[in-house]
Amino acid sequence: MLKIYNQPEPSKESLDEILVLAESAEELPPEPAGGIPKQWLPGFIRWPLRVILLPFILIDLTAQRVARMLIRPPFKKQGKCLKRGNCCHYILVPENKGLLGKLFYVWNTQVLGFYKRRSGAFESEGKRVLVMGCRYLKNDGTCGQYFLRPTVCRKWPIIEYFGHPRIIKGCGFTAAQKDD
Ligand code: SF4
Repeated sequence: MLKIYNQPEPSKESLDEILVLAESAEELPPEPAGGIPKQWLPGFIRWPLRVILLPFILIDLTAQRVARMLIRPPFKKQGKCLKRGNCCHYILVPENKGLLGKLFYVWNTQVLGFYKRRSGAFESEGKRVLVMGCRYLKNDGTCGQYFLRPTVCRKWPIIEYFGHPRIIKGCGFTAAQKDD
């Protein structure tokens, strides 16, 4: 069951409802009250960080691809991206405690460019998550920073070894159970 933690204002919707919104939306969700928050980390710090990190992201994803060829997950991905951008409407980012949790939040908001779309934290698959939006999502559904997009964007839709595949309806991809 999904539930909402630390919700400072009356809950308007559950995480399930938010995800249904993402599946059916035909335009971008509204910006948070007060607009998209400005980043305090200057561009001359965040952009070099993202460029430096890119080769490591690509090596990591390649290693994961090789691992999946050797040990195949129970589902396979079919179809193709329809470039609607709906999977970028609500990004679920784990909420971690302590100093590392704070640094992770700063990384996601100041370096990767995400921002909180909903106040409070939600529960997803037993973990606390924040519902974020992305400042680089353009009105036509395309990515304004495609070349430097974060790992989470490159891995989506996610087909794990355990658990059900995470794909939003209408995106063009489906997950089919492998016969063998
Ligand atoms: S960086 Fe690009 S792909 Fe990732 S959430 Fe933002 S708009 Fe979408």
